[in-house]
Amino acid sequence: MTVNLLILGGTTEARRLASAVAEAGLRGTVSLAGRVERPAPQGLPLRSGGFGGIAGLAGYLRETAVTHVIDGTHPFAAQMSANAVAACAETGVPLLALTRPAWEQGPEDHWIRVPDIAGAVAELDRPAARVMLAVGRMHLAEFAPNPQHAYLLRLVDPPAEPLPFPEHHVVVDRGPFTRDADLKLLTDHRIELVVSKNAGGSGARAKIDAARALGLPVIMIDRPAIPPRAEAHSVEAALAWLHGATERGV
Ligand code: NAP
Repeated sequence: MTVNLLILGGTTEARRLASAVAEAGLRGTVSLAGRVERPAPQGLPLRSGGFGGIAGLAGYLRETAVTHVIDGTHPFAAQMSANAVAACAETGVPLLALTRPAWEQGPEDHWIRVPDIAGAVAELDRPAARVMLAVGRMHLAEFAPNPQHAYLLRLVDPPAEPLPFPEHHVVVDRGPFTRDADLKLLTDHRIELVVSKNAGGSGARAKIDAARALGLPVIMIDRPAIPPRAEAHSVEAALAWLHGATERGV
């Protein structure tokens, strides 16, 4: 069976997988949402922009004769992941999710766990503090109800629109980040509180390790629920699934 893989991307792991697929001489395409101005090179042909919901993705899978889908999106990209489960079920295309285990709280961590972005916004209804808000550009507007804080924001692209916070500082950087550099960042900006998604993985962990070292509290946003699907935690395991699936003829 000739492979024609679709990788739903937007993460370092998906990019690593794309390189490995290209090196293995397999055919594939990486799909990005198209939100980042200059995406990192992906190693495989790229398509960009939404598919148009479940029906749009199912249509794309049929029209381009995709044989396998690997969902390598971020754990908070819940809509895309749910759509992939539904569209693959509808078309009979095998689906694997390349996922990262969530971060676990250790004895030296001071986490305030919240179920979602709204929970983090509610937690920030407190006296003014110096806050590193590491939730990504798409969610910043939701934090407008708490303009009393001085916010440190780290974004992949400079903000295109004015930010809803009177006091803020933007660092443009796409990582991966290191604990030592984030220790310096948090110290230089006299940060008192970090807000983070529980992204898992190593690249985004640096700020959590730095917060631990400084004894800072972290408002940790739990992951959204995603329908059950087959999962692998490494590029090697994902490739093994792909080879196994093609050998079985599925
Ligand atoms: P989302 O809320 O799950 O997706 C919203 C819609 O955006 C989807 O329904 C789909 O539109 C489109 N979309 C999302 N990912 C896509 C992809 N890889 N290819 C084509 N269309 C895509 O997703 P999100 O949280 O906005 O994330 C968007 C992208 O940024 C993803 O590639 C994700 O891996 C990456 N990312 C997200 C985060 C995060 O914290 N959420 C962090 C780092 C990177 P249609 O319904 O029209 O198909």
